[in-house]
Amino acid sequence: MTKYKALIGLEMHCEISETNTKAFSSAKNGSKTSNIDLPNSHIRPVDMAFPGTLPVINKEAVKKALMASIILNCKQPEYIYFERKNYYYPDLPKGFQITQETKPAPVGIYGELTYECKDKIKKVRVNNIHLEEDAASQDHLESSSVINYNRAGIPLLELVTEPDFHTADEAVAFLETMRSIYQYAEISEADSKKGQIRCDVNVSIMDEDLDESDPNNWGTKVEIKNINSFGGVRDAINYEIERQIELKEDGTYDQMEQQTRRWDEDTLSTIYMRGKVDAIDYKYFVEPNIPKIKLSKSWLEEIKKQIPILAPERKEKYIKDYGLTEYDAKIIVKEKAIADFYEETITKGANPKLASNWLTTNILGYLNKYDLNIKDIYLTPQMLVDLIKMIEDRKISTKQSKEILVKIIEDKKEPKTIVKDLGITQITDEAELLKIITEVIKENQHQVEQYKNQPRVLDYFIGQTMKKTRGKANPSLTSKLLKQELDKQ
Ligand code: ADP
Ligand code: MG
Repeated sequence: MTKYKALIGLEMHCEISETNTKAFSSAKNGSKTSNIDLPNSHIRPVDMAFPGTLPVINKEAVKKALMASIILNCKQPEYIYFERKNYYYPDLPKGFQITQETKPAPVGIYGELTYECKDKIKKVRVNNIHLEEDAASQDHLESSSVINYNRAGIPLLELVTEPDFHTADEAVAFLETMRSIYQYAEISEADSKKGQIRCDVNVSIMDEDLDESDPNNWGTKVEIKNINSFGGVRDAINYEIERQIELKEDGTYDQMEQQTRRWDEDTLSTIYMRGKVDAIDYKYFVEPNIPKIKLSKSWLEEIKKQIPILAPERKEKYIKDYGLTEYDAKIIVKEKAIADFYEETITKGANPKLASNWLTTNILGYLNKYDLNIKDIYLTPQMLVDLIKMIEDRKISTKQSKEILVKIIEDKKEPKTIVKDLGITQITDEAELLKIITEVIKENQHQVEQYKNQPRVLDYFIGQTMKKTRGKANPSLTSKLLKQELDKQ
């Protein structure tokens, strides 16, 4: 049986969420708050294509796009310009999308990026990255559809890779790397749950022993459109590879036409949408209402200098400065929001290792279980600092601290209030504790004798004291006083 290898190319769309306004209008960029904003509340006449309105380019959006282009080691052209992609759809009131298609219009062309997949360093070539505008969003109700124009005109970055991935894992690892870059460079929250990321996936297969650097050996490309989660990307690629291998084995692969399919979440399969003959002709032409923009060397240099520290450097810092393991540091830097939370906890005085343990186990465990974002829960870095401090001061036990964490999040209360409400109080008064300890010693004379040769018997006395106080004795003080009193015997 012939062996095959897959070639996979990605077209990744990501909304730029970190600008105040839209790509070509002064309406609010509601990308971050799209889930709570009143529909159709962020609209300017130009977003609705009212006659006589003209687009005005958002410099901040261009700057963010150029930053992405620089990070991806792309070439920036001397001039960027925009084009119209013409098609009719209800979510596109102008009848065209302003985009950058024809080289050298895009903000970046011919770059490359290294990324990690299963502890191996891989490289992917970037064909181009370009700036465009998002379309409106639609909801399909039972007997009608509604349109929300808040999304219309939100700046969108489209990144097109060469077909350099061979497995779904590689494609997803790359997408995760890009998400991290967008977050750390403060270009976008890159949150698929908010619909900020959408991917088109291109898949073909070829005989394993043929030379993949020659495009003549490539198989027929199948495009799977508009997948909105990384899990979906993984499943769609794996499904499609299997499907195409079956066609090969049947001997029908070579008759397969180039086609566009969609990923169906219900049947977990790709479904045929259209073939090449039905491909849409977008009749691109240069957008006449936006002038060409010359990119000065000095502006590009300035943008380059402003690129913030990205995840790999933060990871190194956590290992070097905070003594974290590679494994823990990796988990913390994966999401920028987690890394920011972590750093703030340390700035506010928490022990870096303890804070890391809390984040990588209990807190991330909770967030993953309920599919939550750290920004959306009641817990703040200060509360984590307080919680850790209470354990260090032995005001609460480790077991209690875990319950308190859940209560902070679920009851939306400060750790100190919860400790008070739960009646977790400790006997920390020396005189009071000494009285109890004296009783314990009196009642356990046999063990007092044992203690003289076996210092480990101290633990027995700690246990007895805890029992008498129903766990309320402060452990470190108990241990100190017991030792002091027993040594006197
Ligand atoms: P189109 O002209 O149809 O838009 P492009 O050549 O621009 O096609 O490629 C679009 C995407 O498809 C890119 O991500 C590219 O890497 C990918 N691609 C192209 N050919 C193949 C192939 N044979 N197999 C898999 N992906 C491919
Ligand atoms: Mg193309």
